[in-house]
Amino acid sequence: MVVKENKVIIDVNNKNINKIIKSTKKFLKICDKNNYKLKFNYLEDINNIDKLFWVKNIEKAINTKNIEKRYSFIYDNVCEYIDKKYQKCNYCDFKDDICVFFRNNKDICHENGCCYSDSRGGLCKNLVNNSCQIKSISCKLYSCEYLRKRKVNFRMKNIPLIKYFFNIKQKYYIKYSFFKDKDYVINKLISNK
Ligand code: SF4
Ligand code: SF4
Repeated sequence: MVVKENKVIIDVNNKNINKIIKSTKKFLKICDKNNYKLKFNYLEDINNIDKLFWVKNIEKAINTKNIEKRYSFIYDNVCEYIDKKYQKCNYCDFKDDICVFFRNNKDICHENGCCYSDSRGGLCKNLVNNSCQIKSISCKLYSCEYLRKRKVNFRMKNIPLIKYFFNIKQKYYIKYSFFKDKDYVINKLISNK
C-alpha cells in the first residue's frame, strides 16, 4: 500500500485479490478518515469475474464520499448483481407465469411466484403487468426453500458491498425491508449509520 498525493494506491493481482476484498473495511476507514481516494492498480488480468466486479465497485464506493450517493451506488450495484445472476441462471424458471417452486407444489400452486401470497393479502401492490415497479433489495436477497436447497442463496456475508460497508442495524434493514422501495431503505441506512 502506497499513499501518494491524497491517494491510497494498492497493487492487485490474482493471488492477492481475496486479501484485498477482505481488507475493504481497513481501506474504507483510512480513506474516509483522511479524505483519500483509493486506486487499485491491476498488475495482471483478473481471472475471476465476480471478484473483479466487487473490487472495482469497492473502489468506486470508497471514492464516493457523499454518504447518500455511496449508499445509493451500493444499493443499485447489489441489485444489479443479483438481477444478472437470476437472469443468467434462470433460477425461478417461470413457465406460464408459474415459477418452479409453485409448479412443484400443486396444492398451493399459483401465478407470480413469491410476489403473490394469500397470507399477505394476495398480489403485491408493487407488481404491475408482471413487473415489479420498485427495486426492493430485500426481495432480491430472498431465496425460497426450493432455491436454498439448491444453494441459491445471496447471503449478505458473501456480498462485500454489504458485508464491509454496513453495521448490524443497517444490515437488518437491507435484509428485512421487504416490499419497500430504495428511498425507504436508503433513509434507514443513513439514519442508522
Ligand atoms: S424465489 Fe422461489 S417462490 Fe419465489 S419466484 Fe423464485 S422459485 Fe418461486
Ligand atoms: S416488492 Fe417484492 S414482492 Fe412486491 S412485486 Fe416487487 S419483488 Fe415482488
